[in-house]
Amino acid sequence: MAGQIFAYITHKTGKADDSALELATAAGKISPDVATTAIVIGAGADLDAVCSEVAQSYKEVWKFEHDALAYPNAEAIRKLLLSVLPQDAILLAPHDTFGMDLCPGLSIKLDSVFAADVVDFEGLEGNTLKVIRQEYSGQVSTHLTCDIANGAVINVRPGVFQPDESKSAGGQVIDKSSEVPDLTSGRRFLEIVAAEVGDVDITKEDVLVSVGRGVEDQDNIEIAEELAEAMGAVVSCSRPIVDAKWLEKSRQVGTSGKTVKPKVYLALGISGSFQHLGGLKGNPYIVAVNKNPKAPIFQVADVGIVEDLLDFVPVLTEKIQEGK
Ligand SMILES: Cc1cc2nc3c(=O)[nH]c(=O)nc-3n(C[C@H](O)[C@H](O)[C@H](O)COP(=O)(O)OP(=O)(O)OC[C@H]3O[C@@H](n4cnc5c(N)ncnc54)[C@H](O)[C@@H]3O)c2cc1C
Repeated sequence: MAGQIFAYITHKTGKADDSALELATAAGKISPDVATTAIVIGAGADLDAVCSEVAQSYKEVWKFEHDALAYPNAEAIRKLLLSVLPQDAILLAPHDTFGMDLCPGLSIKLDSVFAADVVDFEGLEGNTLKVIRQEYSGQVSTHLTCDIANGAVINVRPGVFQPDESKSAGGQVIDKSSEVPDLTSGRRFLEIVAAEVGDVDITKEDVLVSVGRGVEDQDNIEIAEELAEAMGAVVSCSRPIVDAKWLEKSRQVGTSGKTVKPKVYLALGISGSFQHLGGLKGNPYIVAVNKNPKAPIFQVADVGIVEDLLDFVPVLTEKIQEGK
């Protein structure tokens, strides 16, 4: 029988990341019968607020407080998890930049299974866990059968599992700070570099018109701007647009850009990489325009339009203007 499930909770300024609830759903998908424990690591007054918030979704929360854990340091946290996790534990963590730093090395030290960027679970039978990953920017699904007799470390793709906001687990917070081992680390915290805010704050907008590499040329961004203006929306973008310096970094949606929570998201010429979708939260109504019918964005879109955006978007803008 598989071991206990743990969820690594990411948090910032006293608030748990959206992934905290998503991992609770993911754990339930692995097995509703196996208890899941949330692990909250950090330092300072904010930590108790995070633990209380997380206890609403998990029956048990392990709190580890230590000065050396004030800033996320994967090397120190690996040492901690290595000393406190049971040998057959299944650890879930978000597949974000920090999760990718933390998890592969942890699985090696634990000598357990590692699966990255997991988008679904097909069930647990005895020591066999079936997981689904995606390859080639989501064009191919890979089904893996994992022998988890020795435990597993699994990076779960953010934004895939729907959080159950209604849950009220009334969980118990257990302070395990006395079990923190020596956390001597070769890494040293230097500074937090805050992201630039820019002229508009895309994180606060209800409607985003987002452009990707499919826009083909800097001059064509105007097409998206006209549509955004007609809709009372704001233009955001995928990373290649920022890399090409066609829009400011403050407009980038994704794991290395901004996390946005619009009500409506128009994805124009965006393939739908997990790094891009990782920045899209709150279950928005997604309308995707892409000339490739197999583009992964169509797997998450509510409305999919297989068209050349350079032809389609000006017509849409015109229709909206006419309707006003
Ligand atoms: C560590 C790391 C962090 C990253 N962080 C981010 C991030 O924060 N945000 C982010 O967006 N990416 C990020 N990326 C990059 C990510 O992996 C993808 O490369 C990127 O999201 C792809 O952007 P895209 O969809 O615009 O381009 P592409 O993947 O090139 O897709 C372009 C799409 O446009 C379609 N298309 C082409 N021409 C047209 C047309 N005329 N009309 C309609 N459709 C058309 C194509 O069919 C294609 O689907 C990150 C990558 C790494 C490694």
